[in-house]
Amino acid sequence: MAERTVNGPWSVVITGDQWAVLHAHLFPGDGDEHGAILRCGTARSARGTRLLVHDVVPAVDGIDYIEGSRGYRKLTAEFVADTIDSCAEEGLAYLAVHNHGGRDGVAFSRTDMSSHERGYPALLDINDGVPVGALVFAKNAVAGDIWTDDGNRHSITHLRVTGRPQLTITPEPVPARTADPTYDRQTRIFGDRGQAILADSKVAVVGLGGIGSLIAEYLARLGVGELVFIDPDRIDPTNLPRVVGARRADTWPVLQDDARPRWMQRLGARLATPKVKIAARVAHQASKTTRITAVPRSVVDADNAALLTDCDHIFLAADSALARRLVNSVTHQYLIPNTQVGSKVTVIDNDIADIFSVSRMSSPGSGCLLCNGLIPASRLTEEATSEVQRRRQRYVDDDTVHAPSVITLNAVAASRAVDDWLMTIGGLTDPDVSADHWVTYHPMTDEVVENEPAKSPDCRHCGPSRLALGDGSKLLARP
Ligand SMILES: [Zn+2]
Ligand SMILES: [Zn+2]
Repeated sequence: MAERTVNGPWSVVITGDQWAVLHAHLFPGDGDEHGAILRCGTARSARGTRLLVHDVVPAVDGIDYIEGSRGYRKLTAEFVADTIDSCAEEGLAYLAVHNHGGRDGVAFSRTDMSSHERGYPALLDINDGVPVGALVFAKNAVAGDIWTDDGNRHSITHLRVTGRPQLTITPEPVPARTADPTYDRQTRIFGDRGQAILADSKVAVVGLGGIGSLIAEYLARLGVGELVFIDPDRIDPTNLPRVVGARRADTWPVLQDDARPRWMQRLGARLATPKVKIAARVAHQASKTTRITAVPRSVVDADNAALLTDCDHIFLAADSALARRLVNSVTHQYLIPNTQVGSKVTVIDNDIADIFSVSRMSSPGSGCLLCNGLIPASRLTEEATSEVQRRRQRYVDDDTVHAPSVITLNAVAASRAVDDWLMTIGGLTDPDVSADHWVTYHPMTDEVVENEPAKSPDCRHCGPSRLALGDGSKLLARP
C-alpha cells in the first residue's frame, strides 16, 4: 500500500486540557508503556486534513492494556470493539495511542506496523470508512499512521496542542529556517523558530473597524504569512479618527458633506472604500510576503464563515452577537483559539459612567463567551430581526448608532490581544499561566481587572455536543 499525501498533509489537534490528561497517562514516571484511544472529528481544507481530538479514552493498565503475544503490550479486543463502535455511531475517527521510551524522536516499530496491517482494514470497515489509525509518542515527539478508505496511508506532520503555551510536536526535531533579516529585532525575542511560526500562521480578523484595523496592521508587520479580513462595512467619515490607514478620500468627503442633499450623502456612503480593502492596503504596505484575503461581506454567511475553519487563530473585533456566536462556536468545533476584543464607554444620564478596553482569549475546550453570558439571546434575536427587515426593504438606510470611541482605548485592547497570542504561540507564556485570562482595563480608575472564564460542562459550544466535531457538525451560520 503506497503512502501518498492526499488532501494535503495530515495533522492532529488536541486541547491543552486533553493533552495534560493524555501526557500524564502515558508518562506517569514509571518508564513503562501505556495506551489510550483518541476519538476525533475531521476537518479538511486546502491546507491539509486535521484530526481534532474529541475525547481521550485512557486504557486501564492490566485491564484494557495487557501483555501482547506478538508485541510488548496491546489493547484488549473488548476495549477496541467498544471504542470503535462508539466512533462508528458518532462518525468519529479512531486513533490508538501508545508510547515508546526516548524524548525528541519517535517511530513505530516493525511489530507496531504489522499489527496495523492485520487490524486496520477491518476497523476501517467497521468505522464506515471514517479514518482509523495510530499515534506513537515519546515524551516530546509523535508519529502517526492513518488509514483512509481510498486505500491510502498517511503519516502526520505534527500534533498541535492548543493550550497556553501552544505546542507543536513532530516526529523528529525540525530545524528552524533562518528568518528574513527584516525581522532581526523581533527574532531576538522569538527566535528563528518563532518567526517561522508567524510566517506559517493563517490568522483571521473579523471586524476591521477601530480595533480590528490596528490588529490587522500589527499582524502584517509581525510577518504573519496569511491574513483573512472579513467585514461588510465601508468607511465612514466618523471612522477617520480611529481606522488606521484610512484616507479622507476613502470617504468621498465631497459627497458626504453635511451640506449635501441626502441622496448625495447616500451615494458617497455607497462609494466609500470597504474597511477590508483599507486593511489589505495597510497590510500590503507592511509586508510584501503576507497573503491577504479581503472579504467585504458578513462573517455570519456560511461561505464567509467557512473561511475561518482552517485558520490558526481568530481575532473577533466585530461588535455583534451573531458574529460572537459564530466565532465562539467555530473555536470549539474546529479547535481554533479566538480573542474577542472591544472597548466601551458607558454613558448614564449624559455622564461617563465607565470606560474600558477588554481582551478575552479563549482556548478550545475552555470556558467560552456563551457559558460566560457574553452572547445574550435577546441581542441575537434583535440582530436577526433587523437583518431580515433590512433584506426585505432591499436598501440600507444608515441607522448605525455611533457609540463613543477613541483610538487610544482601541490600541490598548488590540495590543493586549496580539501580545497574548504572540506569547502563546512563541512558547513564551509562563507554564503557570495555564488558564485563559480575560483582561479589562479601566482608565478612569486606573484598574486592570483579570478574570478566569467559568466553564459550564454542558455548554452547547465548548461542551461535548460540539467540541472538535469539525466538518461533522453544521456551522452556526446563515445558509
Ligand atoms: Zn510501539
Ligand atoms: Zn462554553
